[in-house]
Order: sequence, then C-alpha cells, then structure tokens
Amino acid sequence: MDPIKYLFEKPALMGRLARWLLLLAEFNIVYITQKSIKGSVIAEHLSTHPVVDTRPLNDIFLDEDVVSIEVEDEVGIWKTFFDGAANHKDCGAGVLLITPERLNMPMAYRLDFECTNNMVEYKACLMGLKAAISIGVKRLEVYGDSSIVIYQVQGKWKTKEEKLKPYQGCVESLMKQFTEITFDYFQRDNNRFVDALATLASMVDFGPGEQIQPFIIDRRDHPSHQGFVNALTVDGRPWFAHIVDFIREGKYPADATQGDKRFLRRYATQFILHEDILYKRSFDGVQLVCVDEDQSQTILEQVHQGICGPHMNACMLAKKILHLGYFWNTLEADCIEFVKKCHQCQIFSIHIHVPPTELHTLSSPWPFSTWGIDVNGKINPKASNGHEFVLEAIEYFTKWVETQSYAKLTAAKVAKFLQEHIIC
Ligand SMILES: [Zn+2]
Repeated sequence: MDPIKYLFEKPALMGRLARWLLLLAEFNIVYITQKSIKGSVIAEHLSTHPVVDTRPLNDIFLDEDVVSIEVEDEVGIWKTFFDGAANHKDCGAGVLLITPERLNMPMAYRLDFECTNNMVEYKACLMGLKAAISIGVKRLEVYGDSSIVIYQVQGKWKTKEEKLKPYQGCVESLMKQFTEITFDYFQRDNNRFVDALATLASMVDFGPGEQIQPFIIDRRDHPSHQGFVNALTVDGRPWFAHIVDFIREGKYPADATQGDKRFLRRYATQFILHEDILYKRSFDGVQLVCVDEDQSQTILEQVHQGICGPHMNACMLAKKILHLGYFWNTLEADCIEFVKKCHQCQIFSIHIHVPPTELHTLSSPWPFSTWGIDVNGKINPKASNGHEFVLEAIEYFTKWVETQSYAKLTAAKVAKFLQEHIIC
C-alpha cells in the first residue's frame, strides 16, 4: 500500500498519522495514481517520429450534405409602455422597453419646456419609439393609457388640435422604420410602472450638467434583518463549498493566495466528506454535519423556540446545537444575534426563573426501591367491626399506598401484611 495515498484518502486520522498529515499539508502535494506503462506508448511513438513544425495541419472537414445555412430571421416581439405626467410647473415622460426575454429597461425624461397633457403623452410615445429604433428593434407593440394618442395614431380619431399634428406626423414617420408595429390602449391601473417613472422624472430636480445613473428595482421576499447569518453564502454557494472542492478534487478558489491555500489545506484536515455530506470533526471525536445558511436558520429557530424550545441563552443554544451534531462557521456569533432578536426572550428575560423554594433531591431513584411503613392507632371510636389500628405502607417513588385495618396488631400480622401486600 502506498503510505502517501493512505494519508490523503483516509477520512479520519488519529495520533501520529494526523500529525504527519498536518506537516505534509504545508506543501502542495497532489496524489496521482501511477498509470500503467501502456500510457507511455503514444509519447514514445511521437518522440521517435517527430513532426516538422512548419507542416500545416489540415483540420477542416467539409460536410458535403450541408449546402447553405439559413439564418433564421425570426426575432421576438419587443414591447414598450409609455406615460406622461404634467402638472402646473413640471412635466415628465416615462418609457418602459421590454425585451422578448422579459428584461425591463425603464427610461424617464424630464421635459423642461411648456406642454399640455396630450403633448407630454405624444412626447413619451415618441421617446419609446426612438429608444427602440436606436437599438435596432424591428417588431414592436406599443401600449399607452392615453386614448387620444393611441386612437389618433391608429387613425380612428382625427387630430384637430394644431399643436398635436407635428407630433402625430413624427410618430407616423418613425413607424415606417419597423417591419411590424401595433398600438394598443392600456388601462391606467396596469400602466403603473411607467406612470411612476413619468412622475419621478417630473419631480426630480437636477441641473443640465448632472447625470443620473440607471437604478435597479429588485425584489426581497423577507425583511433584511431576518436571514442575517454572517456571510454563510458566498457567490450563491454555501460556506463549505471551497472545502468540499479541495477534498474532492484538490482544487483551490481561483483568487486564492499562497497563504489562503496553506490555510485551506490545514483547515480541510478537520473535515470529512462522506456521500456528499461534509462533516466537521469536533474535539471530542463527534462528526458534526456542516449546514448552509437556510438550514442553520431553521436549526436556530427550532432549537431555541420550536416545540419544547426553552428559549435558552446564546451560550447554551450554541452548545445544544453542537450537541445535536450540527456545525457552521459562525455558529456562536449567530446564536448571540438570534437570542438578542427573539421577541419572547426580550419580554420575559426580566422575570426571575429560579423556583421560590429550594429544590430537594429525590431520595428514591426508581419505583419500588423504598417503602415507608407506619401504624395509625388507636382510633377512637372503634370501627363497626371493632378494628382500631391501621397499618399503611407507602412507596416513595410512585406514592402507591397499601393499607389494612386490625383489631389488634402483632408482629406476626405485620409480617403477614408485608408478605401479602409488598413482597407478594
Ligand atoms: Zn427566545
């Protein structure tokens, strides 16, 4: 057996072997199995038949079945939504361009000249068309909540207002640059995005020299303080991904320095990969399952405040999680943060949890180990059958009671009572 192979592939090493592995981890040793001798035949053949470097390599293989390749001209339909916002002093136009892949490109323009509400709508429509033309869009669907613009462009309504005529002419000339273009009326409620853009543009104050960078609208499905577990997910992968990569393939992260590599080699010796689950070896030899961010959050919640969760403090919570066999890098820091944020803990932590009286240890460790026997009597007046003594035996653990009444109590009767009721 190869000793180096044994050191690198054995999942758990103890004692001197572990020390050897730690010392060897200092060097970047990659263990490769010795290939069979046959593999060298090709190399030997090539070395004995050298090829001149200047000889051209003929690597073009024509496929005679293919005569020509038609590039399919079928591209998806783009959509544009437009809206204008005009009030007594400011005007703004909002345009939303949507690619066939549903990528939204919002644009907003502030109009620093006087115009009516309909002019602003036309202006917004024109800007949407120009934006689409500038990136070479050929098929376009235009949606707007201005019935005047939509129906006038469609030719259903006549344009009587002189101010709007040049705008309509401009839209018609731009329409010729598309192979396919449609205009549709769209309810105001569904046009909220561009409505907001137009209002935003009309309300923002900025000078002629200033530029506003595109802003990003994203979605969050939980409050940002919730899932605040310290950077357990890096680039969408769990924190132990690099360790798994290293153990499985001996691969380092792309941007790792020499120091990082050395650290990873040493750190990876504490982990074991078994059937795609990474285990961390704890100091007492127990293998702890490494969990990612989502799982760690569930574990914290369940252990601290789940069913029978006693709302323990952070230190106890961390110990309990380790005891249950889970591990992640920032376990203790996360426990402290989690307990700080627990609502019930904040309300009830001021209460005194110590019992009001001193606790007594149980003198009887298991059932039927200890009995207490006593005699009550003489009872006055006597019972109807003339009995005036009561012999009782109580079991300490279960508090089980055995009793018998007697007219006269003798040692023989007590012995018989024990024989019948307790010893059986
Ligand atoms: Zn709590």
